[in-house]
Amino acid sequence: MFKQIILKSGRERSLINRHPWVFSGAVKELPKASNGEIIEVLSNKNELLGYGFFSPNSQITCRVFEFTNEIISINKKFWLKKIEAAFELRKQFINQTQTNIFRLAHAEGDFFPGVIIDIYNKTAVCQILIKGVELIKEDIFYALNKLGFANIYLKTKQNTQLLEGVSEGNCWIAEKTLMPLTATENEIDFYIDVEQGQKTGFFIDQRENRKMLGKLSDEKNVLNTFSYSGGFSLYALKGGAKCVHSVDSSKDAIELCNKNVELNNFKNHQSFTEDCFLFLKNCQENFYDIIVIDPPAFAKHSRSVKNAARGYKNLNMLGINKIKPGGLIFTFSCSQHIDKDLFRKIIFGAAADCKKNVRVLRQLSQPDDHPINIFHPEGEYLKGLLLYVE
Ligand code: SAH
Repeated sequence: MFKQIILKSGRERSLINRHPWVFSGAVKELPKASNGEIIEVLSNKNELLGYGFFSPNSQITCRVFEFTNEIISINKKFWLKKIEAAFELRKQFINQTQTNIFRLAHAEGDFFPGVIIDIYNKTAVCQILIKGVELIKEDIFYALNKLGFANIYLKTKQNTQLLEGVSEGNCWIAEKTLMPLTATENEIDFYIDVEQGQKTGFFIDQRENRKMLGKLSDEKNVLNTFSYSGGFSLYALKGGAKCVHSVDSSKDAIELCNKNVELNNFKNHQSFTEDCFLFLKNCQENFYDIIVIDPPAFAKHSRSVKNAARGYKNLNMLGINKIKPGGLIFTFSCSQHIDKDLFRKIIFGAAADCKKNVRVLRQLSQPDDHPINIFHPEGEYLKGLLLYVE
């Protein structure tokens, strides 16, 4: 028997609409349950709406992973089925002979709040975001083993440990993979360090956008700002770019980027450990045919949206001013708090202030292994535009 949370009258709508978050303000009666326990969510009339993980200290009191009005068993088999279903979906979209880097589970996007699982070749990296998932982690590891991933690295962010009471992670569960490992994305090899690298080791969400850049790069001068390990740079090189410049302020990132260029035997590449704002300010005008602008999230909270918007605008103005006439800009924001419309308005402001004709050629987003749960629009975090600058 699970403990229960009862919603206030009139606060069931979002749950009936399958939004997975129960906010503290919507709860009439809190259960005497501990952090992370699985609980039943009931309407004011005591109807069962679903099952979720309890987080008594968070504003999101419960994260629902199953919407149902029937009593179900939640056990090892239940979690295995969930992870198998996520894997089946990936198999439809990812050609594993060309790509063995993909996201296997994308939290709410896979109806599995609180967990991200990224696959790098034979290694799985499991990032636990809430206590509830930590309590079932053995079942997740069991499922990953069953799917053929024996090497599992458990990654935890420090702020998650503090806020959600998740115990220390950052360790190997069974077999250890020597770092850096190598894995492949669209037939390009990458060194990936899941222990020391950013995120789970790589920015998997840019796979499709990198592919598009590759197709457009033949004989072009390409600038990849905020390059990290050189994802975009390598596709541009493979696509026949005349010259590719990668810029990142992190020395480790640039070292990894250089190693990745070597790993694939590409030429025509130069890297710069520098601040991208400064680099763009000082670089030659009308030299680059294509500029990629993929900064880290500038707005980590809703209160920092205004400053973040200013940052995106300045950055994009620099790009628009520097690019060769007829050039292309791939510009992105991965800030959850800046939505598609706001991002477009920011770019509009940048283009207007530069007094240049700018056209949107494509709207860019996250790939199919980062699915957006239709009931949870917050999951749509990566937005981008392919711009043509006259
Ligand atoms: N485009 C990359 C991911 C970018 S992540 C990819 O496809 O893999 C953001 C990167 O920006 C990080 O590597 C971080 O080190 C770098 N960074 C953050 N602030 C910076 C700044 N002001 N100047 C240069 N690089 C910066």
